[in-house]
Amino acid sequence: MYTIVVLGSRGVGKSALITQYAENRFEEEYYPTIEDNFRKTDEIDGKSCLLDVLDTGSQEEHKSLREGDLSRGQGFVLVFSLTQESSFTDLLETWDRVLQARPGGEVPMVLVGNKCDLVSEREVSEERGEGLSVKFNCSYLETSARLGTNVHEVFRGLVRQIVRTTPGSRD
Ligand code: GDP
Ligand code: MG
Repeated sequence: MYTIVVLGSRGVGKSALITQYAENRFEEEYYPTIEDNFRKTDEIDGKSCLLDVLDTGSQEEHKSLREGDLSRGQGFVLVFSLTQESSFTDLLETWDRVLQARPGGEVPMVLVGNKCDLVSEREVSEERGEGLSVKFNCSYLETSARLGTNVHEVFRGLVRQIVRTTPGSRD
């Protein structure tokens, strides 16, 4: 089983990405999350994999919960909204906290700019997203949880990274 933690500011689409991945559906309504776990079996590179995905609340509200989440995650999805500049800069602190919880070694991680369907509301360019992923030493994907764009790629890419950096994790 692969344990994945999804992080990012409130409203960026963490729950929407997980729901689209795990259940192939999208909610227009916004339901603030406290903490939730999702299990999904996916076929990745011809192998059946069980993913345990932890959906977190926003960083301000749930500081205490998150120390444990961070140390237990094998891979991290750092999500911002392409339509909200502040959610992009918030990830610098999130990234710091992940590295503090997981010192030494490579941390499997993917940076996600979500809501790419809202083209006219974009506040963060693709170049800036890519720039931040260079700093984080991870890959960058632009997604739409609404349309399902690149959503599977986020989770499958992360599992491949976990497999690469964690010897024996696939056995
Ligand atoms: P969370 O707080 O990060 O879990 O955010 P949610 O997943 O609850 O999403 C917040 C709001 O943004 C909800 O109203 C969603 O319907 C909406 N949303 C999430 N992802 C997308 C997306 O890719 N495109 C659009 N247009 N709206 C989205
Ligand atoms: Mg949520």
